[in-house]
Order: sequence, then C-alpha cells, then structure tokens
Amino acid sequence: MKIVEWHIITVSVAMFITATGLFIYLPFISIKKEPTITIAINIDELCRVDVEEKKWEYVVLHHSATDEGNADNFDRYHREEKKWEHGLAYHFVIGNGNGSGNGEIEVGERWKKQLHGAHTANMDLNRISIGICLVGNFEADNKPTNNQIKSLISLVTYFSEKYNIPKSHIVKHSQVRQKGTVCPGKNFPYKRLIKKLK
Ligand SMILES: [Zn+2]
Repeated sequence: MKIVEWHIITVSVAMFITATGLFIYLPFISIKKEPTITIAINIDELCRVDVEEKKWEYVVLHHSATDEGNADNFDRYHREEKKWEHGLAYHFVIGNGNGSGNGEIEVGERWKKQLHGAHTANMDLNRISIGICLVGNFEADNKPTNNQIKSLISLVTYFSEKYNIPKSHIVKHSQVRQKGTVCPGKNFPYKRLIKKLK
C-alpha cells in the first residue's frame, strides 16, 4: 500500500472516532444537569461536638427568604439587627451556591455549643428543635437546588436515626403555630422530602 493510502485510512479512522465520540457526548451536552455533590460529606464528623449533647426532639425547616447568603451573613444580621446574643438563629445553614457552596452544610455556633435555637417564636420548641435553614426564597420563584435537598436528606436522616426523631417531628416552620409565616415557602418540596426519609 502506498503511503498516501495509509494517510487516508488514518484520517478516516480518526474522523470516525471523533464522530462517534461526539455522538455519545452530545446527549450529555443537551441535557446539561445541575452538577451534584462529588465530595462525600461525613455528617457524623460534621456534627460532632465537644460539649454534652442535647436530646433533640424536633427538626424545623426554614428558608432564608433571600436569594443568597451564608451562615456568617445571617449571624451578623441576627446579632446586629435582631440583637440576639448568640447570633445565628439556626443550627445549620445549607448553601445554594450564592454566598456558600451549592449544598454546603455550614454548622452554626448554637450547634457546636448545643444551645437552643431562635428560629421560631415558640421558645419551648426552640429548646428541643434543630433549626435548619436553606438559602433561597422558596416563596418566590426559586426552589431548593438538588444539592441542597441531597444535603438536607442526609442531615435529617442522620438526626432522625441518632435522636429517634419520628417523621411527624420533622416540620416546616409554617406548621409551627406562628403569626402567619410562609417559611420555608410554597416551593419547598416537603412531601417529597418526608417520602424520601426512611
Ligand atoms: Zn423560618
């Protein structure tokens, strides 16, 4: 065979491989999904504290009612504007990618010190409930990101197993008797979340 023919064969094979590759790759481009968390989170390690643990009985779910934010922002707001001594009202904040990582779980000081929350108007409930806030305004057009839901499910599953918290004690802020709060918003997939819990 002549050198020229070899070149033609080589080029043809290369073109075939490229075309096949593109064909396989194309569907992935067209249905570009939100990336999911690739780093495994060790919830047990994340939630470990140096003080004596409280016997938590409820989990109350919130949204931040802001498009962006993180634990530090909300802590400053609760400390400086609300004048709450212990700052950040929640025990955990789950980011949406605007202000902190998408699905990132931030641990608040109240959790580290096993202090009561300030996330509902009911002080008795605040003493026995874990407050989790997802960054976002789910009463507006937004809904939680897939990563936020993934992190939330991991966190809530962990607590329900550890403290024996039944599904009926995993509640939305709006379910707690409160002066008309819509928190965590109409787009919060509460039923889907409860269904996914074991
Ligand atoms: Zn709330």
